[in-house]
Amino acid sequence: MEININKGTLSLVEGDITRQDTEAIVNAANNSLRGGGGVDGAIHRAGGPRVLEECIKIGGCGTGEAVITTGGNLSAKYVIHTVGPIYRDGLHNEPRLLENAYNNSLKLASSKGIKSVAFPSISTGAYGYPLEAAAGIALNAAISYLRGHTDIELVRFVLFGKKALEVYEKKLKELVSQAS
Ligand code: ADP
Repeated sequence: MEININKGTLSLVEGDITRQDTEAIVNAANNSLRGGGGVDGAIHRAGGPRVLEECIKIGGCGTGEAVITTGGNLSAKYVIHTVGPIYRDGLHNEPRLLENAYNNSLKLASSKGIKSVAFPSISTGAYGYPLEAAAGIALNAAISYLRGHTDIELVRFVLFGKKALEVYEKKLKELVSQAS
């Protein structure tokens, strides 16, 4: 599914984030930036040692913040590493921190002149964020960003599995119909 917002495109696809041809891909990292499981492990495996070396130099990343490294051996030139919240009960600032993770990643991309960015579904794996709620926050953040800025031309969500894609598609349809 794909929609145009302002001068940009928001697209949802099922796939593997490491195989994207966008200028940057976003990693759902952890505070230590030392690599981990899920998307993080896949990105470091595909990106190779240069990505980890730069992460170690940077030292760490706060929850909701974002940092950038080379893409190493990936087709993407850059990896933006952001840290989503660990979901407890939704009452510990999780929505705000998840929104920050998306916003700070997009701002960082913008500051580097990056025009296309692919995101995974941050926090919805090991960090336990309920998928539907997370999809709403992720999509709202991308929509607001594209409405307010014209420099980023493509924001692509790369969903792992058919179910995640369906949840994101349903949410995007709801958000688009509310807006019109
Ligand atoms: P977090 O710790 O932020 O929850 P995870 O990596 O555990 O991060 O999971 C985040 C989401 O990424 C999950 O929905 C998971 O299914 C998905 N995922 C795992 N591997 C990939 C991949 N290679 N490409 C895209 N999405 C992935």
